[in-house]
Amino acid sequence: MRVLLVEDEPEMAAALAAALKGHDMVVDRVATIGMAEEALLTNGYGAILLDRQLPDGDGLSLIPRLRARGVQAPVIVLTAQGDLADRVAGLDTGADDYLAKPFAIEELLARLRAVLRRPSDMPTEILQLGQLTYSAEHRQASVAGVVMTLPRRELLVLETLLRRSGRTVARSALEEAVYGFDDEIQSNALDTHVSRLRRRLADADAGVEIHAIRGIGYLIRRAS
Ligand code: CA
Repeated sequence: MRVLLVEDEPEMAAALAAALKGHDMVVDRVATIGMAEEALLTNGYGAILLDRQLPDGDGLSLIPRLRARGVQAPVIVLTAQGDLADRVAGLDTGADDYLAKPFAIEELLARLRAVLRRPSDMPTEILQLGQLTYSAEHRQASVAGVVMTLPRRELLVLETLLRRSGRTVARSALEEAVYGFDDEIQSNALDTHVSRLRRRLADADAGVEIHAIRGIGYLIRRAS
């Protein structure tokens, strides 16, 4: 899972990032609300950890803005302001949970697991990378508002890669996403889907690249 960590204190941010990486998470560290908004434009996140006292304002102000954009990732607010009024303000703004510093990393991990189990009441999930926007609900990819016409299996490859953007997705995971248990899979079918998808993404100027990781699988990332 990819986590956006919005925290301006370098030591705190480094310690949190190291702990989360040790639990199989990809962590993007940013130090301001502005940088967080930029990161949210280009990446999909499974969860957002948000400090309140940031150089460019109260971290809580980010929450309504990201919800308005359709970002449904759970937000856990991390702050020294642990009293009741602050806690209520955080939850009223749309935070999913609130954790007062100092906290044990085990508690943060437990809270993360809890918010990830909670079904979201936001109806649409939007994955974004480069110029590409993908609606998981509608199984629809678009670039700058123009919908791409993709065969179902290419769509499933794309969605599976986007959900783990920046990380290698194993061939077996992609094949599982694309084929039912009863489908016969030809050995090079996945590569064919990927190469067609890659060409369509390039033609559409999607601003993303799919890389083959030899012997392992594929990964998608923003075009460099
Ligand atoms: Ca701070």
